[in-house]
Amino acid sequence: MLESIPLGWQSILLLICLASVAVFIFFWRQSGSSLSHYIKSAEMRFIARRSDKPDDELLFREPPPKEDCPICFLPMPHSGVAIGGVNAIYQSCCGTTLCSGCMKTVNEEKDKGRMIGCCPFCRVELTTSLSEHIKRTKIRMKAGDASAFNILGEQYKTGGSGLPMDKNKSFELFKQAADLGSMNAHYNISFTFLSDDKVEAFTNINDGQKAIQSTIRHTEIAAIGGHEVARNNLGAMEASLGNMNRAMKHWMISARAGFDISLKQVGKGYKAGLITKDEYASVLRAYQSSLDEMKSEQRTKVIKPCPWKDRLLELDEHQF
Ligand SMILES: [Zn+2]
Ligand SMILES: [Zn+2]
Repeated sequence: MLESIPLGWQSILLLICLASVAVFIFFWRQSGSSLSHYIKSAEMRFIARRSDKPDDELLFREPPPKEDCPICFLPMPHSGVAIGGVNAIYQSCCGTTLCSGCMKTVNEEKDKGRMIGCCPFCRVELTTSLSEHIKRTKIRMKAGDASAFNILGEQYKTGGSGLPMDKNKSFELFKQAADLGSMNAHYNISFTFLSDDKVEAFTNINDGQKAIQSTIRHTEIAAIGGHEVARNNLGAMEASLGNMNRAMKHWMISARAGFDISLKQVGKGYKAGLITKDEYASVLRAYQSSLDEMKSEQRTKVIKPCPWKDRLLELDEHQF
């Protein structure tokens, strides 16, 4: 039959076929790369029962206590971001993490001319030079500092601190930081999968199932390590599967740790009859007590909303 078509038309038909295949592959890959596409699918249900899933005793264990700021000795969120309005700020000079309240004091004293701007922990002069900051971070990496790997990964992810945007390099740094024990790096890895970032390191596994498996695994590790935002997102993942009781367990843990978004979910769950009045009251008390423990006059001056709102999985009212 093909022989009856003139040679010129045969070439055009071949080109149309190739273009159709390319368009199909493009849309297939696009649809396969986002969690939202898979989270409600049957594949997700299968993956949720995967063999390397931690047992429930470990998964729902109360998180480790928050670490204290080494200057004011008040607890800081595991997530490092504005849980209860408190930020944990990494110091590239000595690798310590100080709270936003203490850094506010340093800046106030510097502005009043009472002290030079120095790290309140190691007394090394603070730098506004991006290249010096990167140089210091790299020195910390040589010392095996997990947070330094994670910080540099975040800079490459966004093209911050004068570095070029390089998502492959960023992903490699997150992996190294996670291997060294950074919970923020586990969370960052999970979000590399959740976002539609195309990273060479996982082009082969960016086919849906394995990407989701990795997302869940890294989110679980971060949540077990105390990462409040990761715990919140596990709740949303379980809720998307219809496992509302498991979702409430996750949200109650992160709400007790002081995370307002999770508390909102717990409130919705209470209205939907998923938890008792006593359980809700107990979560409210624990939430308030976490906020009270973290609160100080200096910290209150620099309260910022959680910068990761776009990286949160939150459910609407009708989904309960
Ligand atoms: Zn402090
Ligand atoms: Zn320092």
